[in-house]
Amino acid sequence: MNCLICQSPSIHPHLHQSRYQVFRCASCGFQFVAPTPSREELAEYYDRAYVVPIARYSSQFQRHNGLIADLERWVPQRGKLLEVGASYGHSLAIARARGWQVHGIELSPGAAHYANERLRVPVLNTDLLDAPLPAASFDAIMLWHVLEHTREPAEQVARLYSLLKPGGVLALLVPNIASAGARVAGRRWEWMTPPAHLWFFSPTTLPRLLQQHGFQMLEVTTRRGDGNNPYQHALIAFGEWLKVVRPRWKSLRRAAPTTSVPAATPTTTPTQPAPVTPSAIFRRWQRILSQAQPITDRMATLSAPLIRRLDAAGFGDELCCYAQKPL
Ligand SMILES: [Zn+2]
Repeated sequence: MNCLICQSPSIHPHLHQSRYQVFRCASCGFQFVAPTPSREELAEYYDRAYVVPIARYSSQFQRHNGLIADLERWVPQRGKLLEVGASYGHSLAIARARGWQVHGIELSPGAAHYANERLRVPVLNTDLLDAPLPAASFDAIMLWHVLEHTREPAEQVARLYSLLKPGGVLALLVPNIASAGARVAGRRWEWMTPPAHLWFFSPTTLPRLLQQHGFQMLEVTTRRGDGNNPYQHALIAFGEWLKVVRPRWKSLRRAAPTTSVPAATPTTTPTQPAPVTPSAIFRRWQRILSQAQPITDRMATLSAPLIRRLDAAGFGDELCCYAQKPL
């Protein structure tokens, strides 16, 4: 098994989440789920467990409008726009109102149907690799939190390149595995969610993948996105630490010479904390976490200048890349 980004064979198990093994490349820091789940396994997962309510999209006018306005810094003349993972079509409807000719691709039949019938936005219900679209026909293509879901990101990037006109611009948003949140919260980072997310990019690995397929980078930035604030991440990480440390502490106390030790007492090995059932203290901690949310949100608002500096230094949870197909 070699790294998708740098081809290094130096790949190591990094963490377990939801029965999936996440590996890390020692050379470039790229993280990924292996083996890649089959098409059938992913289809079953999306049918059963992955429902993004339509209200979440329809209520996000400001976010969608802001993202399209940001893209227009690079394509001020507008033109033909493709959104891969167009969902219910809300962001494309906004783009159309801003003067773009819009096209979408969406794997969910229900969402694609809604986009076509209710918003009158043309959205194909197919995968990008199979989509019957002419080469070199788009001025811009956007994917917002899509690439990390696909089974074959390299093939997807190659197809995106072929669909863009020379000079066309690709806009990508993905979770940032090099963020402060991902570093601190580890397997409990809110975007560490296999099998929904299979590839975990950083401000160095995603540009590398794009450049390997011919793209020139225009801009790489990170931002907080709509995820948790850094203080909440720190509390989540502390809870995870409690969950690991508490059973170890208990087993140490059991093993102490002053207490009687039943012969069959199971000991917890430090390398396998996963099977431990949540202790009462951990359940209390989870309640505290939800109560702390308004407080940490307030702290984040008050320290916004500091968080903006962290984002500018590449530690934001969401990674935004603009890349161009050369003229
Ligand atoms: Zn690598």
